[in-house]
Amino acid sequence: MWKKILPDRFAKDVFEIDPRELKKQGFDLVLLDIDNTIAKYEEPVPSEKIKNWVLSLKDAGLDTVIISNNRAKRVGKFGEELASKSFHFSLKPLKKNYKKIIKEYDIDPSKVCAIGDQLFMDVLGANRMGIYSILVDRIYDTGSFVRKWLMKFEDGVRHRHRHLKKEATKRDTGNKGKNNEIMPNRK
Ligand SMILES: [Mg+2]
Repeated sequence: MWKKILPDRFAKDVFEIDPRELKKQGFDLVLLDIDNTIAKYEEPVPSEKIKNWVLSLKDAGLDTVIISNNRAKRVGKFGEELASKSFHFSLKPLKKNYKKIIKEYDIDPSKVCAIGDQLFMDVLGANRMGIYSILVDRIYDTGSFVRKWLMKFEDGVRHRHRHLKKEATKRDTGNKGKNNEIMPNRK
């Protein structure tokens, strides 16, 4: 169970992720979450900074897909603005839309990476599919009491994961690992 919610990589935000590095790692497709990953809940459209970052993904030769549990209107708008195919109401971590994307792009899951802010949705969903998962720190704390409680719980898990990953990196390399160190692709 713990392994399924262990991201392959941590990043402070998407801007810390270098598109050329992703390409070098062997990825061709990037799945992007919206809420708290590339935008705050109340932002109806992506910022210029996010638009430019998505453009830099495309420039590096990566295709981008928006995969969100949010509603069609919001997700469609982001897809349009970011010139990306979008999948709304995805019910992450369920496999349904991941499978649809893999099929549509006729791509091996090992060539796909997913970026999101939630362990139990973005990371678990990707890991269940054998997709490389990158967890970013959420942009903004907001939402209902239940959501806030879940976020608190996730922070605990995040902390534990970072510690475990650090230890593992130290063991593997004999060096002090960094939280955002790029880990090898899952086989
Ligand atoms: Mg999110």
